[in-house]
Amino acid sequence: MSEFDLIRKYFADVGSKRPDVALGVGDDCALLQVPASSMLAVSIDTLVAGVHFFPDCDPEGLGHKSLAVGLSDLAAMGAAPAWATLALTIPVADEAWLGAFGRGLGRLALEHGVALVGGDTTRGPLTISVQVQGLIPQGEAVRRSGARPGDLVCVSGTLGDAGLALRLIHAGASPCAFLRGRLERPSPRVSLGIALRGLATAMIDLSDGLAADLGHILEASSCGAEIRLSDLPLSRPVQERLGRVGDSHLAGDVDWGLPLASGDDYELCFSVPERECRTLDALALRLGIGIAVIGRIRREPGLTCLLEDGSVWRPTARGFDHFA
Ligand code: ADP
Ligand code: MG
Repeated sequence: MSEFDLIRKYFADVGSKRPDVALGVGDDCALLQVPASSMLAVSIDTLVAGVHFFPDCDPEGLGHKSLAVGLSDLAAMGAAPAWATLALTIPVADEAWLGAFGRGLGRLALEHGVALVGGDTTRGPLTISVQVQGLIPQGEAVRRSGARPGDLVCVSGTLGDAGLALRLIHAGASPCAFLRGRLERPSPRVSLGIALRGLATAMIDLSDGLAADLGHILEASSCGAEIRLSDLPLSRPVQERLGRVGDSHLAGDVDWGLPLASGDDYELCFSVPERECRTLDALALRLGIGIAVIGRIRREPGLTCLLEDGSVWRPTARGFDHFA
């Protein structure tokens, strides 16, 4: 199969049909109609076999995740996804693999109204780059820099699920379907990101873990935050894991590094003025996505994590590992 046959068969017709695609796969460039009233939001992510995923992982899940991480970046700006391009480096043209990869990417693209409009295909060590493009009404993008002292700090969904799945796999165990799904097929919070336009003062998606990613908001906004560990949204499996850590069940001995620093959550972390508290509840209900208020932005720089008794949590040897 020639390179061009391969592209035509697996990538010429992936995702949504959009009227704003004047020309898609097949020419030197794609031609896209950007509305004059919109800003174009652009982001690219690369996944390398052996670094970001297991080389023998399920190709359909990999197709899903390759696009999902980009859509999560768009969500974090409040952008509506529109188009994607795919740079694919593969060691061999394995048709079963390509078919499954295209299906996984295509299904998520359809779900979010995204058209795959072009790309590049080369031979080499398995590497996947997906660039996503989204649209935001002029002036409505939510940046990292707008958090203000007094704002509430919020996160969507639950934290540490993908991290726990990865730990189990590394330990030779098999994660349950829920945890595996959270690692391999994250759901980018696109509708939430869009709904937070004009509401969130700052926003980021969680790819490196809450501590690091909230840290980026704090730095960009020149402020600090105080969060309550007991308010972190945790799934049942993560709660059980934390409960089991250590012989003593003192809260200070709990492995908070799992929800704070294990990464791959693909949830949104954002700040909102306190008066919007009610709006958030309504939003969570309407979208069917959990939104947890976990703390507050403050003037003093740095991130402080509080235990239930109000004392400050300092990472123990175990928790600290994940911050290294
Ligand atoms: P060029 O040599 O002009 O860069 P290519 O031969 O790389 O063009 O690609 C031919 C067409 O196929 C282009 O429209 C390109 O965007 C598209 N394409 C190539 N690889 C992929 C891919 N993996 N997914 C989607 N479109 C692709
Ligand atoms: Mg060309």
